[in-house]
Amino acid sequence: MPHSHHSHSGQFCKHAVGSLEDVVLEAIKQGFDMYGLTEHVPRYRDVDLYPEESGLSPASLSDQFDRFLDEAHRLKTLYFEQIVLLVGLETEYITEVDLAHLGTTLQRLGGRIEYIVGSIHHVNGIPIDFDLSTYQRAVASFLEVKDEDRQERLLCAYFDAQYALMQQFKPEIIGHFDLCRLYYPALRFSDYPAVYEKVKRNITFAIQYGALFELNAAAFRKKWDTAYPAEDVVEIVLRQGGRFALSDDSHGPHAVGLNYHRLPAYLKCVGISEIWFLQASSTPNTAGRLVEAVKLDGDCLGHAFWNAKSAQ
Ligand SMILES: [Zn+2]
Ligand SMILES: [Zn+2]
Repeated sequence: MPHSHHSHSGQFCKHAVGSLEDVVLEAIKQGFDMYGLTEHVPRYRDVDLYPEESGLSPASLSDQFDRFLDEAHRLKTLYFEQIVLLVGLETEYITEVDLAHLGTTLQRLGGRIEYIVGSIHHVNGIPIDFDLSTYQRAVASFLEVKDEDRQERLLCAYFDAQYALMQQFKPEIIGHFDLCRLYYPALRFSDYPAVYEKVKRNITFAIQYGALFELNAAAFRKKWDTAYPAEDVVEIVLRQGGRFALSDDSHGPHAVGLNYHRLPAYLKCVGISEIWFLQASSTPNTAGRLVEAVKLDGDCLGHAFWNAKSAQ
């Protein structure tokens, strides 16, 4: 039965490992019904390249992304009898340049991008998920306010960026909603009233246009006790009638389905009883793309699939 809406491979992403085909073969082996291939969009400024990308250029990232789409569609066709592959992308929003390029990329590539995972990985142009010291540099970059107010400012900026992204592109999947507290999983948004309002605003908006919130198992790998998002966000989403979809956010074949065995207990604990997933549709959705959200039938918690792969 299960699905993943979010993955990477070492073939097209320098901080991942393995070929995209090996990722797909592993998903087939584990019995995934649907698996989403969603490489990061290119970044467009030299300054935004990661250390492991030395030797690359923004132009080579763009070439790499185009090659990703070719390969993903080749695999989709090749393995269509064994697995449903959806081809998408994961967004970046570092500066306005990224949103402008995302718009032209979507226009240029049309239906080859079947859906979008809407994610934010930067605040004030600085990565928030690279390592703790870089995160702290992002917090410290809010020079216009006092030291003790900077954490709140970072969270507000993160959720404002997420909101802008959702407004412009209506991503079908909201990627790791609360990545902004990666290094502080015990942080609660309700301790920051201004942040909490933005969290609620974003959730309301996403639900209105029909987005699915990703339950992203990669958080367990990052030493969280929960998936993304943590309980406080799940509670708001559920209260407002929002829907969830599964992702492993794998960065190579070794991480396909990784920690999915921990999801049923989490789902049960937070009261999620329905799982949704994307499938191809003949009717354009609100963003004009040809996918729709479908509810998984039956008992999603009792399925043997969950034990297929345990923690590594
Ligand atoms: Zn991400
Ligand atoms: Zn990702």
